Amino acid sequence: MNIIRVRVFNTNYIWFLYNYRGECIIVDPGEAVKVLNILKKLQFKLRAILLTHNHFDHINGVFSLTRYFPKTIVYGPMETKNNGAHCLVSEGDDFVLLQKKFKVINLTGHTLGHIGFYSAPWLFCGDTVFSAGCGKICVGFAQQMYESFLKIKHLPRNTLIFSGHEYTLSNINFAISILPRDQSIIDYCNKIIKLSKNNQPTVPTTVNLERKINPFFCCDNLDIKKSLNLPFNLKEEWQVFSALRNKKDSF
Ligand SMILES: [Zn+2]
Repeated sequence: MNIIRVRVFNTNYIWFLYNYRGECIIVDPGEAVKVLNILKKLQFKLRAILLTHNHFDHINGVFSLTRYFPKTIVYGPMETKNNGAHCLVSEGDDFVLLQKKFKVINLTGHTLGHIGFYSAPWLFCGDTVFSAGCGKICVGFAQQMYESFLKIKHLPRNTLIFSGHEYTLSNINFAISILPRDQSIIDYCNKIIKLSKNNQPTVPTTVNLERKINPFFCCDNLDIKKSLNLPFNLKEEWQVFSALRNKKDSF
């Protein structure tokens, strides 16, 4: 199976998974016109849609797409029920699409019902992890987002993380402001500046890379506490995570 990315609304990514027979799965179709044009051009047959959460820029294309392809199965969390998902899934559920097994992981934090779809070595994580950063905590809690990060942190290192947005440049600038002497972050920043200048995508990323350059995966790093002026006896890592997220909100 192959994957292609389609960029819409400036920063959103819609992911297309397809096999040699032209059967296709689409993740988080926030719009339909561009998606339908690609499906037509590549003569793909849409089999399923996967929704990670109930934000318009991830779901807005669903009804138009299912009108064109009425047999499409739409998987999503409970919160997407009124926006086209009829196969409601949550943590521990799994299903097979195009001969590949997909496992559902609850990734609460950005929204209360946010989920991810894991099909080794791929993770579609919506607005949970972005390269070098973390999704906004819209209606969830920092501790939930921290726990979602822990789940992703412990996936195999070679896991490819397919995020819902291209936010890497802003994220790596924040990371460098927190850990200005970290050589991995400095090297990654230089790479991202080059890619961004040429308008090149920076995702998917990997668990291995994010563990090195994403401060939200490094809440045990004492330099982060120091940088945020947090007391050294602060025990819970999720509190560091929360302080980091607050700091990013005003960055
Ligand atoms: Zn969102």
